This record gives sequence, structure tokens and C-alpha cells, in this order.
Amino acid sequence: MITRQLRKIESMIAGAKWIGENVQIHGVSIDSRTVVQGNLYIPIIGPNSNGHDYINGAIQNGAVATLWKKDQPNPPQDIPTIFVEDTLIALQQLAASYRNQLKQATFIGITGSNGKTSTKDILHQVLSTRFKTKKTIGNYNNHIGVPLTLLSLDEDVEMAVIEMGMDHLLEIAFLSDMVKPDIAMIMNIGSAHLETMGTLENIAQAKCEIVTGLKKDGVLVVNGDDDLLLKETKRHSCKQLTFGEKSSNQLYLTSFHQGESSLQFTASNSNSMFALSLIGRHQAINCLAVMQVAHLLHLSEADIQTGFRQVQLTTQRNEVKRFGSVTIINDTYKSNPESVKAAIQTLESLPNRKRKIFVMGDMVDLGEQAVALHKQIGTYIAEANIDMVLGSGDLTFHTITSIQERDTSPQADFFLEEEKLIETIIVLAKEPCTILLKASRSLQFDKVVEAIEKRL
Ligand code: ATP
Ligand code: MG
Repeated sequence: MITRQLRKIESMIAGAKWIGENVQIHGVSIDSRTVVQGNLYIPIIGPNSNGHDYINGAIQNGAVATLWKKDQPNPPQDIPTIFVEDTLIALQQLAASYRNQLKQATFIGITGSNGKTSTKDILHQVLSTRFKTKKTIGNYNNHIGVPLTLLSLDEDVEMAVIEMGMDHLLEIAFLSDMVKPDIAMIMNIGSAHLETMGTLENIAQAKCEIVTGLKKDGVLVVNGDDDLLLKETKRHSCKQLTFGEKSSNQLYLTSFHQGESSLQFTASNSNSMFALSLIGRHQAINCLAVMQVAHLLHLSEADIQTGFRQVQLTTQRNEVKRFGSVTIINDTYKSNPESVKAAIQTLESLPNRKRKIFVMGDMVDLGEQAVALHKQIGTYIAEANIDMVLGSGDLTFHTITSIQERDTSPQADFFLEEEKLIETIIVLAKEPCTILLKASRSLQFDKVVEAIEKRL
């Protein structure tokens, strides 16, 4: 984490004015509750709260200095303070400046509609076999999370794997400028954030903004299966490496086998089999992107194999748990048409004979097309080789009715009340079955998973 004297911190933020002792700070925190001894507290003014109001808690927990927005009343008297025009901009400037001081490290930036966190976790594990590697914590991928991630890096870090998210044009450009990646990755484009982005073309353009901060001799690793994305990346002159399903990619999938809670695959550049304790063909594609980066950084196939074997994903992404003859797959963090398709394909491909039950909640942020997209995904699920679909949520209602309209579909039921949904799942779970639960996280399906798991 960043360790600097206040005099130095002051010089890293434009227009900053430091008052008090020249103490050394160890790390920063924007949340008074998570401040630890030695931190610089950075109060942020958010839509619902003002971090300046919590300065006393931050000091009690060990903050040795604080930033302070000039126009805010009652700056603390008992710890040194750096006055700034805007604490959020100061956080971002501090992070950008610190990143520039970490000259020995290689930075890898990851963006895309789906699979950023999964890929970050896999890449981190692979690079850790050879290098001192750090990654974005959890899903800290926005204009606050990325600077916090940068400031959490140690001075001697060798590889930094940074996730970058967005829901507006120019957000990735801003983050990429801050991170200045040596290698940039675009996992895919899909309908996530269609509400704010309007069209898939805009989404492709936004993801390609990751090239903005890419080092002069940097490399873009990009999913080559999507023509729209490729058309957009072709407008950039940087070196590019592709991965994906299609044999037109520089690295592509040559075989895939889905196990109960693991997967195996082969790739076009090797005769070896690669194995991970993850599920889903989409995760094998994410692995191909990781392999492209690993090759660029001269890791051996043995290193890649070792890293893959140790991968554990961040929770709520295809998280598999067994309760006797019942398997629960918790995929309740994020949902959109592309990742629902990936989830359905995963459920279909599981090699057991147990009943396959898909529990779906709404896909949020889809804008004007939300109802149409929920109907369309219903048409897709209706053709799937699974046994049952249970749904809850205003938009999911359209999915369930479009499944029910088809004769050959799996049985589909809609639930107005979550309690009834949970009771139904508990009854179904008396027989051997695999239950995959998926929704956008605002639907809080993780609570449904919790309630079920308690009773299994
Ligand atoms: P967020 O925007 O919330 O940060 P993310 O891009 O980090 O999301 P993950 O958290 O890795 O994505 O995964 C979100 C969902 O997308 C999970 O259901 C996961 O299984 C699925 N997913 C992961 N990789 C892919 C992929 N390559 N294609 C489609 N779906 C994927
Ligand atoms: Mg993520």
C-alpha cells in the first residue's frame, strides 16, 4: 500500500495545501469504519452521505492524517490535514501519481461486459506462480474502486491486475489513463448497461477506450468472436492478440469437457489438456484470454497449468456447493442476456442425471429493451435441455410467460412472493437436483440462496 510522508502526498495532488506535522501515512481509506492505524482518511461526498461527518470515527480507528474539502466546516484540529478543492479528484490524482511511481510493475487492465472479475481472478492466480501479483479487490472497478486498488499496491509489486467497469462513455478512457496498462484486455461486449449506453455499438466503442491509456508498445488482448468488437478494435493501431471460439482467432478452443464442478479444455497452441475447478464453457474462453497474457509475459505452460489448478473465483460467480444429492450453483451477482445464456449452457452441460432447475430473477439496466430482452431470453430457455424454470421479479414475469407459451418447453412457474419461491425450491430439493440461481444483484437472490442453504 502507499507509504509516503504528507509533504510528498501534498505534492501528488494539484492545488493541495498541507497543514500540521509531516507524518508518514500507510495506506488510505475512504470509509471511517475500515480505517486502520496509520491510514490517510479521504472523506468522499456521496449522494447519501458526507465522509467529512465521520472524521471522528476515522481518527478513533487510527487515521493519522486526512484530506479535507476546502469548503467543508470543522476540519479536525488533532491530526494533520491536507486541504483540497475536491476529495474525489484528489483521490484519483493521488492514485494516478502513485501508479506512475510504480515503474517496475506491469499493469494489466481488464474490461468487457461479462467475465472481468472471473478473468481477473484466473489471471492473478496464473501470474502469482512467478511474480508478486496483486489484483483488484472484489469488484472495485469504478472511478473510486480503481484508484483505491492502485493505492493498495505495494511498492515492490511486479504484476497488477486491474478490473475496469463502466456504464457511461469515456469512463474506461478515464480509468485507463489512470492505470496506464501495459496490456489491455477486452473480454467481450454484451447488453449489460444498455440502459445508459443505448446501443451495442456504443458499448463496443466504450470498451475500446481501454486503448486510451495503453502504453506505446502495449498489447490489446481481445475476444475475436464478436465482429462488432473487432470492427471497433481495428480502428486502433496497437498490437492486438485475439482469443475465442472461432478458428480465425490467434488462440481458440479446440475441445471442452464439463465435469460436475470442474472443466477441462484444449487450445489451438498446445496438445495439453488444461483443467480448472470452475464450471462453464465461458470460463474456458476467459482462460484463453489469460493464456494470451501469460504468453506475452513469458510464462511456461507448466506455470499456466499450476495457476489454473489453484483458481478460486470471487463468490457469487458460478459458485458450486453440494448438499447431499442437491447441488446449488450461486450465480447471483450479475445477470444479462449473454450471461444467462452462458448459465443455461453450463446447466445443460453438467454431466449428471439429476433434475436441472433454473431459478431466474430480473436482469437490470437493460433500458427500453428490457421487456423485449426478457421475452427473448424466455424463447432461448424454452429450447434448453433443462427440466424446470422458476422465476420471480416484474421483468422475469415476461420470461416465464414466453416459456409457458411454448408446448415443448421445460415446466415454468412464476412467483410473486419470494417466500413461496423458497418453499417450492425446498420441496423440489427433497429429490436429487441441480439448482442454478441467477439474477442481477439488486434482486438480492443471494438472500434466497442463503435461505435455501440453511434448510438443506
Ligand atoms: P461486473 O460488471 O458486475 O463487474 P464482471 O464483468 O466482473 O461483472 P463476472 O463477475 O466475472 O463479470 O461474471 C458475471 C457473470 O457473467 C457470471 O454469471 C459469470 O458466470 C458470467 N460470465 C463470466 N465470464 C463470461 C463470459 N466470457 N461470457 C458470458 N458470461 C460470462
Ligand atoms: Mg466484476
